[in-house]
This record gives sequence, structure tokens and C-alpha cells, in this order.
Amino acid sequence: MPSSSAPPVPTGQLLIDGEFRPGSGGATFDVQNPARRTVLSHAALGTVDDARAAVDAARGAFPKWSGLPAPERGEILARAARLVLDHVEELAQIVTLEEGKALPEARGEVRQAYATIAFYAGEGRRLVSQVVPSDSPDKLTFSMRKPLGVAAIITPWNFPSMIPMWNLCPALISGNAVVLKPASYTPLTAFRLVQLFHEAGIPRGVLNFVTGPGGKIGDALAQNPDVNVLAFTGETLTGRHLAEINGRLFRRQVLELGGKNPLIVAADAPLDAAVPSALWSAFSNAGQKCTAASRIIVERPILERFTAAFVAAAGKLRVGDGLVPGTEVGPLVDAAGVEKVERYVRYGLDEGAELLLGGHRLTEGDLAQGNFHEVTIFRGSNGLRICQDEIFGPVTTIVPADSLDEAVDLANDVRYGLAAAVYTKDVRSALRAVQRMEAAVTFVNHGPVGVEVQAPFGGTKQSGFGRELGEAGIEDYTEKKTVYIDYSYAKQPWYYPWA
Ligand code: NDP
Repeated sequence: MPSSSAPPVPTGQLLIDGEFRPGSGGATFDVQNPARRTVLSHAALGTVDDARAAVDAARGAFPKWSGLPAPERGEILARAARLVLDHVEELAQIVTLEEGKALPEARGEVRQAYATIAFYAGEGRRLVSQVVPSDSPDKLTFSMRKPLGVAAIITPWNFPSMIPMWNLCPALISGNAVVLKPASYTPLTAFRLVQLFHEAGIPRGVLNFVTGPGGKIGDALAQNPDVNVLAFTGETLTGRHLAEINGRLFRRQVLELGGKNPLIVAADAPLDAAVPSALWSAFSNAGQKCTAASRIIVERPILERFTAAFVAAAGKLRVGDGLVPGTEVGPLVDAAGVEKVERYVRYGLDEGAELLLGGHRLTEGDLAQGNFHEVTIFRGSNGLRICQDEIFGPVTTIVPADSLDEAVDLANDVRYGLAAAVYTKDVRSALRAVQRMEAAVTFVNHGPVGVEVQAPFGGTKQSGFGRELGEAGIEDYTEKKTVYIDYSYAKQPWYYPWA
């Protein structure tokens, strides 16, 4: 096991009004390594007072930050991007140590975090507004973007570097001041990123960082009426709770919630491409992805061939500590995650699904020390609980379909609508499926994972609303102010301009 070669991990602190400091109660909480269930380090246990102080600091910093020319804000983000790029290896190791994913995957995640910062640094020189034609001569009409004020950003543990950046960067570049609260399983990656932003010269109070239990610290942020936009990524149930608070406060929100994503394999799909893609989509990050391909819907003519190839390839995936070279599938983030997977394996068996691979927790040798579960494949119908609920583990189900049309109906027969994919060589089938699939992000000849930072990302149905990434990410953190400038100096008649 790699403990001796593992890098030192930081001890997390809060950042409030430009000062790194412990929680006001002086307490800390443990951060664990899920591959070994050992304590890696500690993070500051923030209090409700700390959450309030962070919002107050952001409120105080907002006028100056929003008044700074956007290109100057972009320069600070560009410096932060450079620093993140210089620290990819260190950050990736922290991701693997506290979240568990295999190191090459963690490197990819951190590179995407970098790309997000770099993209929004460039937005500082765009932030395009819109001029619209006027009904009257000698009149200029346009809408300009205004930041909302204080953004509270609450993020999950499964992409501890990427998801904070997806929200932090559009919020900052458009002139908002921010309070970031990361998940309690993975506060150290976010802490290190916040340190790098600080080093890049983010002004005092513009970026605040609080850690501690969501039910307390996240709730204190959500209940604070001085927060103008709440961005939340996490479970649909938590999202619903926060949406109720947001509704009561008439507050803007971005909700990125769960998924139960279909990957359709049409009868004419190229198997040599579809099989590795399905593997990566279903089992990377041990299936703990909101976009994981957790239903693989296969047309009957290719069902047996796909199933044989997929199960054989999945059986070869190497499960282990993410820092060990060659590991492809790491541990689940906590013991409760393994128990949830075991529960869903039981549901699958009880409801008559056919278990094709795996189905057990891994307890042999070094794996006994961590939260490991076998890569697991079922075959069954779409109505089963394993096909309707987000399991968030290394489990997927092959669902047979009689036609591509039926495959799309099955794909849509779920309460979520995040990502969906289809493998086919036929352009017409692909585009018809894209039109009909009820998912906000769709893929052709590509698994439902691996989004690019310059394109919008988000969900429909119970997967949430609002869009992160690309120019769309800016929409969530700004409102449009419309400006009419009449330079005719003409006397305006009654009912102008509709007289
Ligand atoms: P949770 O909803 O449990 O937690 C997410 C964040 O919310 C954490 O920071 C958590 O803090 C905080 N939180 C928990 N309860 C509250 C509360 N009552 N008020 C305010 N904040 C709270 O989700 P997970 O961390 O378990 O993340 C996994 C989920 O995220 C999956 O369902 C997945 O699908 C979804 N997800 C969605 C994505 C998308 O873009 N649609 C992307 C990635 C994940 P703490 O950690 O301290 O409990």
C-alpha cells in the first residue's frame, strides 16, 4: 500500500474576510482515506457564526469586486488557473487520498478544474451583453449583465476539485462575492484550491470558505437572506429541501442533482467502441458520478454479443487503492456507500434481476481495509429499483429493448433527466434519439460522461435546473438590466412609442 509515498495533505482551515483561521469553536473533524479507512488529516469545524461571518464578508466585498473591470477579474482568475496547472499532481493526489478515485482519473479531473478556471478567466474579456433593435429611430436599446451579489456554493464529494470550480468561476468572473462550502468527505482539495486563489490575489472577502456539516453550515448559508444565489450540487432530496428555502426567500438558484443515465446500444452499434465506452461510463469513479451509465439499454439483435463482451471486459477491471499504479476502480467514499450498494444488489436479486458479474463487497487482503465493492452487472427490466434509483456505486444493469424506439421510451421512463447516450452508425437513428431523449445533455457514439467546460451542463426533470459551464454558466450568476437610451431629444407623444 502506498502510504509512505503519499504526499503530505494539508490541514483544512476556514477563509473568512481574507484570513485563514480555525472554526470559531476551535474544533476540527477527521478527513479519511476511503481506501484504508485511516485518518488523513483534519478540517476546521465551522460554526453557524462562521457561516454568517463569511456571508457578511462577501456582502462587504461585493461592491468593490463588482465595480472592478471584468478583464481585471479575469486576470486574477488567469493567475489562479496557472497556479492550479502548476499543482495538478499535488491536487490530484489529494483528490485520490480523500475521495478514492484512481490517480490518472484524479489528474483528469484536476485538469478539467484548470480548464474551467481558464475558460472563465477569458470570459472576463467577453461577458457579452445584447443590443436589440428599437421600435423608434434614434434610440439605443440593450441589456447588460449585473452580478447578483453574494453566491453561496455547496458542493458534493465526488468531484472535489471540478464541481467547486464549475460554480466558483462563473460566479466570480461576473462580479459576485462567494462563500464556498465543500462536502465534509472532501474538504481538503477545495481548501488547497482556495489557497491557490488567495495566492493569485483574490481580494479580501471576495472568496470565503467554510467547512462543517451540511445540515448546520449549509443550512445556515441557505437560511441567510443576504445570500442572493444558492448553487447546490448533490442529492435530489437535499436539493428539494434547499429549493423550498430558496422559494420562500425569492432567491435565484442552481440545482445540479441526481441522475439515472441511459446508454443505448443500437443493433448496428460498433461494439469495439461501445464496450469500452460503457465500461468507462459505468465504472469510473466507482460509479459515483451523477452522469454514470447506470442503465445500458441494448437492442435484442446485439444483446448477447454486447453482454458477453461487456461482462468479460468488466471482469478484468482492477479494483484497488487509487494511488496504486494500474488501479482502474477505486473505493466508495464511505462504508455507507458500500452498504447502499449491497442493499441494491439485494433488491436486484429479490426483484428477479439476473446477476451477471460481481455482487459482493471486497474483503480480501489490502482491500479489507477500505470501502471496496466488486464491479457488478445485472440484466433486468427497466421497472426494477436498480434501474430507477440512483445507486452511486459500481453497479449497472443491461436492459433489453425490442427496437430503438422502445429503447428511447425506456431511457425516458425514469424521474431523472441528466445525461443520455446512444451508440449507432445510423445518423437518422442517432438524431431521432437525440430529439426524443429526456436528458439535458445527450451524446452520440460517446458514453454519457466526459463533458467539456465550454458547453452548458445541467439537468431536467428531477436532475435539477439551471446550467453550469460555458456561457450559460454566467446566466445563473447574473441578471439582465435593460437600458433604453433615446438620443433624438424629440418630444415624446402620449403612449410613446406605441402611439
Ligand atoms: P449531498 O446532498 O448529501 O451533499 C451535497 C452537499 O450538500 C455537501 O456539501 C453536504 O454537506 C451539503 N448538505 C447536506 N445536507 C445539507 C442541508 N440540509 N443543507 C445544506 N447543505 C447540505 O450529496 P452528496 O455529497 O452525497 O453528493 C452525491 C450526489 O450529488 C449524488 O446524488 C449525485 O448525483 C449528485 N451530483 C450531481 C451532479 C450534477 O451535476 N447533477 C454532479 C455531481 C454529483 P456535508 O458533506 O457536510 O453533508
